[in-house]
Amino acid sequence: MKRRAFILSGLAPVAWAAVPRNLKITAVKVVVTNPARVALGNYVLVKIETNQAGLWGWGDCTCSGSELGVAKFLEEHMAPGLVGRNPMQIEDLWQTLFFLPYYRSGSVHMSAISGIDMALWDIKGKVADLAVYELLGGRARKHLLTYSTASGRNFQEVEENARKLMARGYKVIKAQVATPGMESGYSVPQSERQRAATDKAYEEGLPPAEVWEPGAYVRTVPKLFEHLRKTLGEDIGLLHDVHERVTPNQAVTLAQDLQPYKLFYLEDPLRPEHLDTFRLIRQHASTPIAMGEVFVGPWEGLNLIEEHLIDYIRNDLAHCGGITTGKKIATACEPKGILTAWHGPGNIAPISHMANAHVSLSVANFGIQECSVEWAPAVHEVFSAMPVFEDGYVNVAEKPGLGVEVNETAAAKYPYLRRLRPAIRRADETAWPY
Ligand code: MG
Repeated sequence: MKRRAFILSGLAPVAWAAVPRNLKITAVKVVVTNPARVALGNYVLVKIETNQAGLWGWGDCTCSGSELGVAKFLEEHMAPGLVGRNPMQIEDLWQTLFFLPYYRSGSVHMSAISGIDMALWDIKGKVADLAVYELLGGRARKHLLTYSTASGRNFQEVEENARKLMARGYKVIKAQVATPGMESGYSVPQSERQRAATDKAYEEGLPPAEVWEPGAYVRTVPKLFEHLRKTLGEDIGLLHDVHERVTPNQAVTLAQDLQPYKLFYLEDPLRPEHLDTFRLIRQHASTPIAMGEVFVGPWEGLNLIEEHLIDYIRNDLAHCGGITTGKKIATACEPKGILTAWHGPGNIAPISHMANAHVSLSVANFGIQECSVEWAPAVHEVFSAMPVFEDGYVNVAEKPGLGVEVNETAAAKYPYLRRLRPAIRRADETAWPY
């Protein structure tokens, strides 16, 4: 039966008739704010306004390292494709915006699409008077297992910080330790000298310089986990992030050397440029592997799923295409038994953390949700809500849409702050991944 005939037959359900067919996007507003006044604290937010009074949606387009590039791209190249369109047509708008610039994909374009996608889901939820997770299939679990980072300059410091997290209820902990002889590293405290050099670079508006040698690092990490298993026991979940800072052979060796310590997963062992090389790790080690936070094409890394070369998929929903892409990726992973572990660092806005939570609550193959739960007071001033932590889990309230609003007056008090990401070099000054 044709739609018109179906409606005229009187069989059309009330909800269908109530869908606002004449809803239109009237404005796309971009807000750049850094409430915490820190490096990696700039957020690029998008507000999609409609012709229905009081109905709008908020999304997060933050791409740390390219913030103002995304803001300008949104205003100049995305907004004109949205105004006048029906915000209910999320899939169609997603595809339209993906093809719009012709030269597509990449971090700036996909971050812009991601935030717009979140804002459209927020609007749809508000129209339906339902939380976004309800629109995605409904709650598939009570709450979301989460983790936090225990870091230190030495093993004892990491152990002490892990014990503090365990006392707060964390069941899984990411452990990172400084490498002897290195002034800095990924997610570890910097030496005094490095901190001074970093502050000086920030003052000059330049990227801080850091030196990194992976050899000593891959020898140190297994000893850290040997120490943690001995002192913390077998029950606590432990994971570690390599952050792509090693060669393929070092990644294989590290995954092998960590096997006795039964990690929850080993994260980002290789660069996204070396996706085929994940086969090497799989052939030689049983340590669970997680990857995906730097993927910026909707299907980047698909071979890792198809060939089951990873155990956890870690796409960043603020960079890979938003809720729409996240749901599709989770579905692609489901037949392989690959679990979700969406990227959830402090350098994406609370709106993204809410989006992560809504998708994680709704998918069958959820694994764990990285989630920042300690925010500066000014962040709470700008954002009305963020996932709530309790006893090792996070959750969201049952509110229409994503459940988070932005105080634009407060956001305006905290403008963009230029704090560039560090430039990493080997000891011989070869450029190296962050
Ligand atoms: Mg990572």
